[in-house]
Formats: sequence, C-alpha cells, structure tokens
Amino acid sequence: MSAAHDEASARVLQSLWESVRSGQEEILLSPYLPASFAFLTHVLLCAPFLALDALGSVSPRVRSWRIAAGSGPPPSLRCWFDCFLRVLYRYLTAVLPATALFHTLGSPALPQLAPSCWQLFVEVFASLLLFDTFFFIWHVCMHRVPWLYRNTHRQHHQHHVPFALAAQDSGSLELLSLLLLALSSTWIVGCHPLSEISFHLINSWLAVEDHCGYKLPWALHRQLPCLGGAPHHQAHHTLHSVNYAPYFIHWDVLFGTYRGSV
Ligand SMILES: [Zn+2]
Ligand SMILES: [Zn+2]
Repeated sequence: MSAAHDEASARVLQSLWESVRSGQEEILLSPYLPASFAFLTHVLLCAPFLALDALGSVSPRVRSWRIAAGSGPPPSLRCWFDCFLRVLYRYLTAVLPATALFHTLGSPALPQLAPSCWQLFVEVFASLLLFDTFFFIWHVCMHRVPWLYRNTHRQHHQHHVPFALAAQDSGSLELLSLLLLALSSTWIVGCHPLSEISFHLINSWLAVEDHCGYKLPWALHRQLPCLGGAPHHQAHHTLHSVNYAPYFIHWDVLFGTYRGSV
C-alpha cells in the first residue's frame, strides 16, 4: 500500500472519529449506550435474515442456501417475535443494569486522535482472537459441568436448528458472561474506543452469521477458511460435543472437537 493511500485512510479515520466525538460526547459517555447499542445492532444485523426466511417460502434458490435440507422450513414470524421478546426482556432486566453500573464505575476517556488503520486492524483482530479463546474455554466448561449447563447454557440450546436472532437467545447469566468476556478482551488488548466499537460490531455480525442457518455464497467463512461460520456452529447446536469455538476453527482442530458440518 502506498504512503499516499495510508495517509488518506488515516485522514478518513480521523474525520470519522472527530464526527463521532463532536457533539456526541454526552451520548458516548451515557451509561445506557453499551446495552442499547448492542441490542439495536443485533436486531438490525438480523433484519436481512428475517427477509431471507420470508423469501424462503417462495424462492427455491433461497431454500437451497439453507444448511440442512432436512432441518425443516425456516422459522416462522411468530418464532422470531417470541425470540425478540425474550432477548429484549433479558437486555432490560440484566444487560442494561449491569452495563450501566459497569460504565458508571469507570467512564472511558475519549482520546483526541483516531487510531491508525493498522492499529485499528491489529486491535480488532487481537480482540477477536482473545474473545474466541475465552469463549472456547467457557463454552467447554458450560457443556462439561452439568450445573453450569443447566443454569447458563441450556436456554441457548433450545434451538436445535438456530436462526439469526437466536444468537443472543440465552439466559441472563450467559449473556452477562459473554459481555464480560468481550469487554475483558478489548481491555486486555488496550483498544482505542473506535477499535472497541468496531470489535463489538464485527463480534455481533459474526454471532448473527454463525446462527443464521444459511450457507450463503458470500458468507465470510467462504472467503476466510480460518472461520467456521454457520455450518460449523449449526453442527454444535445439533451434536453439542463439537465446535465449541464461536468463530475460528483452530482451537477445535487442536483439541479434536472440530466437525466440518452436520
Ligand atoms: Zn449458538
Ligand atoms: Zn453450546
């Protein structure tokens, strides 16, 4: 990449960061922002998959993208709505109070300078790798310790064939634990707030894609073989004892729990 290109990208990031900061400081520092941002992002990222599920009833091509042909029809609108209510309820009763408290205890400082493109890439990638590692360990524990499974993870496994919105259809304890793992990952890496926002957006997208139930031609895991994607995670929901890592496949390959698809 040329120096001129680097400079142009740096200028774009700086003006993006300044537009986020200018006049938005009050919103950025609001204790209610993290939970509201996470919930709205999740719902918005799921919206295209709701449209795809609806299209599936009239388009054989959309149906051919479903991962398991024998997994039945796409979830109904009622199923989506019930799941939406459950996720909303847990955000209002657990995630919002917890993140507001956490935010009030340590309000972040907003630096003047945006990160460089390279810094943003490294911080986001390192946070994803770290989160993937923490999640893998925690996920194995939730499956191997019966008490933990009953009280944290069973709720999420009510979906044998998951769909996009089900990515966050978990008990309050599990939602809080995953939030803690995500926040710890960016904190350990020492992310710039812009990298942190980017990490949460990508994290949210990867979780939605993992649960979407489709093997889309343009899905990220088809471009990047280090990612398992939806077939990988659907195999976990079906078989339970494979594919514990949420995004990358290296930990499952290393520990012999990798399964390509069901
Ligand atoms: Zn899942
Ligand atoms: Zn599981």
